[in-house]
Amino acid sequence: MTAQVLDGKGLAGRIEHSLRDEVETFAGMFGRRPRLVVVLVGDMAASASYVKSKAAAATRVGIDSDVIAVPETATTAELVALVQAIAADQHGPADGILVQLPLPRHVDAVAVLDAVPPDRDVDGFHPENAGLLSQGRPRFIPCTAAGVQRMLIDAAIPTAGKHVVIVGRSDIVGKPLALLLAQRPPAGCPTDGGCDATVTICHSRSGDIGHFTRQADIVVAAVGRPRLITADMVRPGATVIDVGINRVDGKLIGDVDYGPVAEKAAWISPVPGGVGPMTVAMLIANTLLAAELRMKR
Ligand code: NDP
Repeated sequence: MTAQVLDGKGLAGRIEHSLRDEVETFAGMFGRRPRLVVVLVGDMAASASYVKSKAAAATRVGIDSDVIAVPETATTAELVALVQAIAADQHGPADGILVQLPLPRHVDAVAVLDAVPPDRDVDGFHPENAGLLSQGRPRFIPCTAAGVQRMLIDAAIPTAGKHVVIVGRSDIVGKPLALLLAQRPPAGCPTDGGCDATVTICHSRSGDIGHFTRQADIVVAAVGRPRLITADMVRPGATVIDVGINRVDGKLIGDVDYGPVAEKAAWISPVPGGVGPMTVAMLIANTLLAAELRMKR
């Protein structure tokens, strides 16, 4: 079997296309464009590159964006004060506020993220948004989790009654994705895809990860270990989604041993070109949603 490729880049392009129309409608109604403000701390090349692609995507769909760059030496108090100033629109109207992670080690990341008002928290990391998601009434869904769910729905890969094994339990990927895929279908949802799954979460203390992944209809790798998921850990015909981003010898690779796993799986997402562009597209969708919610208040 050679797996079909889950083309996140192509799907993200289609999502951006429809968002562009919605942004034009918003601009026509309210006489301004949605606006995203990103805080970038320090000079990590990877963070700068992610921020650049987020700003470029915003521009493509007609959303205004601004990146506020702060030196590596910024303290927790300074960053909290900056986020509060952005939230008070002192840096222009800010419908969505995003603090690019990771923050330097000396900074209390939780304190900084908690300073983002929950109604502008387009990353979906604020406890209020995490709580809403866990109760099955999401507002801003963390972008990577939303992107993975959207990929499954778009490819009509069933999740109801299926076993999903997620490797990784972070607050930004593994946990919200588990909640999303295990939830009941949202009221009024036109599709029952992307929910009603039975979900297992693995992590660094799970022991033999393959014992779990071999039972899975859908494996999601969100770890940050190159080629952790090998072909012997995947059952024939499974769907394999690779969230991982690892830089090895100057190349980007995922957490999945792509070539051999693609010979066994029915569907596989590549790195790059899989989950990454979907994460950005979901951020843009959340920014438009934040702007719409703000205008309704
Ligand atoms: P974290 O480091 O926050 O979490 C990693 C998780 O993997 C933890 O739960 C950890 O377990 C678990 N883990 C570590 N080693 C193993 C192992 N050997 N076996 C099983 N589980 C293990 O990472 P993130 O969730 O933030 O990101 C994960 C990956 O996804 C990274 O490569 C990151 O770059 C990428 N990423 C990609 C995005 C995209 O858009 N494509 C967006 C966000 C992240 P424990 O909890 O026990 O420590």
